[in-house]
Amino acid sequence: MKVQPVHRGMFSHPDFAGHEAVSFVSDADSGLKAIIAVHDTTLGPALGGCRRWAYDDEAAALKDVLRLSRGMTLKNAAAGLDLGGGKAVILSDGNDATPAMWRAFGRAVNRLGGDYITAEDVGTGQAAVDAIAETSPHVRGTSARGLGDPSPYTAWGVFAGIKAAVKHALGADSLKGLSVAIQGTGNVGADVARLARKDGAGLILADIREDAVMVLARELDASVAAVDRIHAVKADVFVPCALGGALNAKTIPELKARIVAGAANNQLDTPEDAVRLAGRGILYAPDFVINAGGVISIALAEDFPEPDAMRDRVGQLGDVLSSIFKTAEAGGGTTDEIAVRIAENRITAARENRS
Ligand code: NAD
Repeated sequence: MKVQPVHRGMFSHPDFAGHEAVSFVSDADSGLKAIIAVHDTTLGPALGGCRRWAYDDEAAALKDVLRLSRGMTLKNAAAGLDLGGGKAVILSDGNDATPAMWRAFGRAVNRLGGDYITAEDVGTGQAAVDAIAETSPHVRGTSARGLGDPSPYTAWGVFAGIKAAVKHALGADSLKGLSVAIQGTGNVGADVARLARKDGAGLILADIREDAVMVLARELDASVAAVDRIHAVKADVFVPCALGGALNAKTIPELKARIVAGAANNQLDTPEDAVRLAGRGILYAPDFVINAGGVISIALAEDFPEPDAMRDRVGQLGDVLSSIFKTAEAGGGTTDEIAVRIAENRITAARENRS
């Protein structure tokens, strides 16, 4: 196995963003090909999941890992965790991953000396993190130590964020009588739907998995919208819980909701989309703040081993968001800019204390 710390053209890569280290990992025996990106370790070791995906090419994998890794720096810092940001991607050839591959990945993580801590992400389930733990201590969310699937905690944080946004924008203490449109009813979206319904919301759901969305709609007495129209339906809150880029130059002018608050990563197609939303008077809960419940449940599993205590900790994301909304209202910038500033200020202060 080889771990090569640099790549030609890396420093000038448009998404490089001052990464501390980027490692290209290969293991001939297991067929592993991976990239591990450590963006920033100022606040602590870089925690971020390992994604396994069949990328179109290596350039796409590199772009993905660099963007996700920087995103983890912001997410962990804004969530108040003493952790830096990093991420790994494994380049899938379309075949199933083997335990040998995960063990080889664990050995590659070890070579970074604890600067990077891995966890599950798209394409990496519980069995994978357990296999990684056979060769590496630098892994979280294993079945031996942890609270299991992070999705319910992500959903709990999103629900807390929706409530904070509703309180701020509409002055309401519950979702009773409000309508909530949810794009993507997978692990997180379905849980958010159940929580919102229990709190009194009427639901409009959409998912490309038509059968599954119909089953959930029956369970929750919800209506179903077309996947290409869910962002534009008449609702008080739009909740993106599918893939990134849901908020863009085409969809934002069509939004009818006063609030956007959901779990998907990278919801804004470009940073200008935050300005577009603010310009339309739509309150946007920055994605990397509202969706931090899962990473909090992984990072702090030993401090809050009981689900109720963890939900209380994750629920604090609602307070973080309330304060961001107030700063934005006072003219402090878009909610996205303020959230980035909160994260970067924490890192700058830690750096200054260190030197
Ligand atoms: P998931 O794969 O379980 O659910 C995603 C759902 O979106 C699926 O049901 C899928 O069919 C649907 N979908 C895909 N494209 C769609 C489209 N164009 N329109 C409507 N539906 C579509 O994933 P998840 O774990 O629920 O995560 C949802 C989002 O939240 C992802 O963007 C993920 O990166 C982000 N996120 C998840 C967690 C977590 O703990 N699971 C944590 C942070 C962020």
